[in-house]
Amino acid sequence: TLPMVNEKDAQPMALGYVADTNKADGKKFPKHAATQKCGNCTLYTGKPDAPSGPCGIFPGKAVASGGWCSAYTKKA
Ligand code: SF4
Repeated sequence: TLPMVNEKDAQPMALGYVADTNKADGKKFPKHAATQKCGNCTLYTGKPDAPSGPCGIFPGKAVASGGWCSAYTKKA
């Protein structure tokens, strides 16, 4: 299992990553919506029903499927 991305690390901080999409900074990221989460992001390669999985932005780490960052791109 991959180690989880730490919200407090520099790169996740810079991208506004949060392990809970509801905790995203809506002022800083006005395009954020609670329906956006890692689990339905293009960059997420984990299983949809798993609690966490890999993300292309954070190699070697796992993001929470209910997390979010400003690189979010809706899965087509
Ligand atoms: Fe989550 Fe997508 Fe951001 Fe990766 S790029 S942390 S999957 S929202």
